[in-house]
Amino acid sequence: MKITVAGAGHGGLVVAALLAKSGHDVTVYEKKKRDELGHDWEDRFTFSLLEEIIGKKIPDTAWRYRGDCSFVSPSRTSNVVINYNDSNRQKIMWRKYLIGTLLDFAEESGVRFEYGSEVLAPVIKDNAVTGIKTEKSEVLSDFVIDAAGVFSPLRTNLPELFGIEKTPARGDLFYAKRAYFNKTDEPAPEIPFEICLCHNREQGLSWCCVNEDSVDILIGRIDPLPEGKFEECAADFRLLYPCTGDKILHGGQSGVIPVRRPLAIMVAPGYAAVGDSAFMTTPMNGMGIDLSLNAGRLLAQTIIKYGSADIETLWEYNRQFHIEYGGITAKNEGLKNSLLEMPGEGVDFLFDNGVIQSSDLAGAGSKTSIGSLLGKFVRGMRNPAYFFAIINGLIKGAKLKKALENAPADYNTDEIFRWQESIENTLVRVKRKG
Ligand SMILES: Cc1cc2nc3c(=O)[nH]c(=O)nc-3n(C[C@H](O)[C@H](O)[C@H](O)COP(=O)(O)OP(=O)(O)OC[C@H]3O[C@@H](n4cnc5c(N)ncnc54)[C@H](O)[C@@H]3O)c2cc1C
Repeated sequence: MKITVAGAGHGGLVVAALLAKSGHDVTVYEKKKRDELGHDWEDRFTFSLLEEIIGKKIPDTAWRYRGDCSFVSPSRTSNVVINYNDSNRQKIMWRKYLIGTLLDFAEESGVRFEYGSEVLAPVIKDNAVTGIKTEKSEVLSDFVIDAAGVFSPLRTNLPELFGIEKTPARGDLFYAKRAYFNKTDEPAPEIPFEICLCHNREQGLSWCCVNEDSVDILIGRIDPLPEGKFEECAADFRLLYPCTGDKILHGGQSGVIPVRRPLAIMVAPGYAAVGDSAFMTTPMNGMGIDLSLNAGRLLAQTIIKYGSADIETLWEYNRQFHIEYGGITAKNEGLKNSLLEMPGEGVDFLFDNGVIQSSDLAGAGSKTSIGSLLGKFVRGMRNPAYFFAIINGLIKGAKLKKALENAPADYNTDEIFRWQESIENTLVRVKRKG
């Protein structure tokens, strides 16, 4: 098969490599140049997953540990400290190293690359995607894989009849800016990594992580960051932690992360999405690398297994993704949106009264359940409105998980659209502006 992949992200590179290895003719169209790929910062993901996929060990020189972490309430009256141990301490790797490793893997597997080629839209013929339009030409192929990220021009230009959601709602995206500053000789904090939820009572979070050689600051909000916001928040951290210098050593760029459930429908005749283009991230912390790698591998395995990329095969990928990853990942969207709906004093209440504890935060909300909250019932009932808002988020999250995991078995669009509509009823929407 002649296969086109739009975007050299994590998911796109994995699916491209595995399909090229199995004998398909695969070309990746990427708008940037090779040496421009990958952000200038470090990321957390599951290293063993990358090793499994590329079939190679990652050298110990390629990563480092991140220190213990303190989650701080909006008014800074309470904090929850996570002391990691040897088995769960966070490992981080430079993004350029990760993308470089995946590019090498794809090249060794026989993938061809067209760098500096911006994809503009899909080519549609007879109600199917039959290729891509780039700035330079129209490229026809048997199958198109959309790995062009959160604002993919393929997804956003698909015909309505495919039923694929194009535009995320407010609260579905996280606008972030991140930079590593030089470290001065002033003393470093005892707990190196601080995450402020609802920082300055705004919807989002900010972090400051003091490394041995630098101070990593990230500011993220659910609305685009106004001019000067990053500098203002970095100055706040500089007052708290005077070891933070003002010279940028790495990063300094902005990025947008989906923080929502994955697309319910992510395939159409001739088309499948992987990674951020299908909103595949953990809603609570925006981690998307594992999901992109897994989606790329699952899509390739499904096509190889059935020997085709017809719509029934692609639907099997879609359905299986939700059973294995989508449902469980989406589960904490309700909790995250309930927190975003809450004013700063609500989040303060949850921290100050021990309703939010380290077990809730260490697992990005994955370990928070109605059962675990009932143990905090007496403390939570000091403010029933905030407590029940959290419970509502968890109940809706559990329903969302179940709904995603129960996609129709076959590609019957009437049934699939009804299933997609039923998912809408399980969502907690972010309406509050603050
Ligand atoms: C500040 C920040 C910190 C993050 N930290 C983490 C973390 O620690 N752990 C984690 O798991 N995730 C993290 N993420 C999220 C993570 O970056 C994404 O979920 C992940 O990159 C998604 O991978 P992807 O495969 O969808 O490809 P993407 O990384 O989205 O790549 C898309 C590719 O497509 C290309 N492209 C875009 N448009 C076009 C076009 N029109 N034509 C051709 N090419 C195009 C882009 O140049 C890019 O190469 C972070 C994100 C940000 C912004």
